[in-house]
Amino acid sequence: MRKILVAALLLVLPAVMNADRLIRIPMQTDSDFTVVRDMGYEITAGSRADGYVDVLVSQRFVGETMQRYPGAKLLPREWSELVSATDDNEMGFYHGPNENALFWATLAETNDMVDTPTSYGTSYEGRDLNYIRITNAPAGAPAILFTALTHAREPGSNSVVIDWAQWLTTEYGSDTMATFILDNAQIYIIPIVNPDGYEYNNPEGGNQRKNMNFSAGGDGVDINRNYSYMWGYDDSGSSPYPSSQTYRGTAPLSEPETLAETIWIDSIEPLGGFHYHTYGGMLLYPYGYNNTPTPHQSTFQGWAAQMTAQNGYEYGRAGEILYDVNGDAVDWSYGESTHEPMLFFTPEVDDNGFWGCQSDTSLLVTNNLECRYMNKLLCMNLLSMVGIEETGSAEVDGSSFGLALGSNPVGTVLSYTVTSSVPASVSVLDVTGRVVAVPSGGSWAIPVNLQNGVYFLRAENENHAVSQKFTILR
Ligand SMILES: [Zn+2]
Repeated sequence: MRKILVAALLLVLPAVMNADRLIRIPMQTDSDFTVVRDMGYEITAGSRADGYVDVLVSQRFVGETMQRYPGAKLLPREWSELVSATDDNEMGFYHGPNENALFWATLAETNDMVDTPTSYGTSYEGRDLNYIRITNAPAGAPAILFTALTHAREPGSNSVVIDWAQWLTTEYGSDTMATFILDNAQIYIIPIVNPDGYEYNNPEGGNQRKNMNFSAGGDGVDINRNYSYMWGYDDSGSSPYPSSQTYRGTAPLSEPETLAETIWIDSIEPLGGFHYHTYGGMLLYPYGYNNTPTPHQSTFQGWAAQMTAQNGYEYGRAGEILYDVNGDAVDWSYGESTHEPMLFFTPEVDDNGFWGCQSDTSLLVTNNLECRYMNKLLCMNLLSMVGIEETGSAEVDGSSFGLALGSNPVGTVLSYTVTSSVPASVSVLDVTGRVVAVPSGGSWAIPVNLQNGVYFLRAENENHAVSQKFTILR
């Protein structure tokens, strides 16, 4: 009996030791935030606009913290602890390390457009760092990159890139946008930037965020503070102390995960992409280190407004939403002098804490769908920037001939203007060149049964034709 009791206690202990809890603290003013931060709490999410910060505390400090902040709310246990894993099911509805390996290998085996996972380096503990490429484009087509699980306790980021790969490969050939993207771009995915930390969290669902390099005396290095651009600019959101959750390491790119990744990214030269994280429902863009706008501010802001139109994510620079951070992946992607500016964003998927979708497939599906929408728009925008579209005007016999679109992408009505000295006709073509509509009068109500996707509006008169690409998205 006693023996059984001891065995039972041992089984229970690891879960108890992992029992960190998330607490949501109301934040009315900036000084409220400063007070919470200066208490030394680990802040996991938050928004000045939405008036809250979440902190992660050990179970034994829960009561004290709840007392300290009137109105504080204890968030569900499932948000901060993996409780539904079994031997057959690594991380509930999330994909664990072995489930990832199987998923990507199977996708590559069953689909000619998907390359076998390929190593770009080795992690601190010696695991392969893998990328996957999906494309049906000619060699040299522009690259777009999606990364996930830089922070090992954010499996919702991995779920999004798995959904994206599944959607692209399944819908290629029937969905015009999936077809257009894979015909014109090389889509690269790093499903697990931090495999050591992710393995550590499997299967107990620990809350390891950083990598597993404990050599500085702490519990790992925050990969997303270790990139070289403006590394260690100051101590806002980036710490010199090894015990901190935002410890930036001993030097820029000191970690094998960042060094290998940055060398590899420089070799594929992506136009841009998403470095996916969770949680909070935000879309961040540079500069994070000092909250100043980049020369591409209007592009970042305009695209962010468009991409968040469906999911309502708050967007802006990190310092606008909560606080500055330095040494992160988007600042490096945009600012580092080893390459041209790459237009990267950090989506913070709107998960329930770190593990909140482990037994909630409906929220997981919603998050994946909302991020898929952002992924599509990002690809379409990036590909338009490098000129993958047709001409919009021409000079014919001394008279101008042109076609201009109203807002794009469009949901219900496409508006357009044709400039022509002689009568011109207008048609809508899909990406295969098939005419799907013949609008007139400067606007076209999009039929409800027409698929979302990429289309061309074409205007022609007796002498010439021009066309413009647009995207139907609703
Ligand atoms: Zn993160």
